Amino acid sequence: MVIELLRESGALLEGHFLLSSGKHSNCYFQCAKLLQYPDKASLAFQDVVSRIHSDIKTGKLKVDVIVGPAMGGIIAAWEIARQLSAFLGPTPAIFTERDENGIMVLRRGFEIQNGQNVLIVEDVVTTGKSSLECASVLEAKGANIAGLTCLVNRRSEESEPNWPFYSAVKLSVNNWDSSDCELCRQGIPLERPGSRKI
Ligand SMILES: [Zn+2]
Repeated sequence: MVIELLRESGALLEGHFLLSSGKHSNCYFQCAKLLQYPDKASLAFQDVVSRIHSDIKTGKLKVDVIVGPAMGGIIAAWEIARQLSAFLGPTPAIFTERDENGIMVLRRGFEIQNGQNVLIVEDVVTTGKSSLECASVLEAKGANIAGLTCLVNRRSEESEPNWPFYSAVKLSVNNWDSSDCELCRQGIPLERPGSRKI
């Protein structure tokens, strides 16, 4: 169902793309195209939220705060926090972002208390680089990283994260290193839809 939501909202693009991870791919998920519709965003996360909630009920998972790395994680984190709040009571969604030097930071007066359990949320996970950067910012402030959630999991098997991982949909697509890209060899122009600088 999530794949249908991605498709019908034009979030699933095909071509030759430079991903924010630096890899090249024939497929790009512009999740903002889906998340612009609150009703679709709500539907897309329903199932993953119910899996998260059931792990919270059985004590496998503890969540105090939801954190999304900007830009992609902001709306996704907010929507997951909104749905989880119905079960857990008020659960805040905050975000980390890159400063002028491209370093991931926590700003805007957002705070993490020592020992708080954090669920990191991204729109798309490819290499998990943003989540790792986000996690180290939070861990430096005493957070416990409880898990990782995303709308689209397009990571390869060899890079599974260290934390419990909940994805709304897992899709196998081709990713290439820039030095060894099938589409570069074919001379297809490269598009840059990502936002790593933000
Ligand atoms: Zn390429």
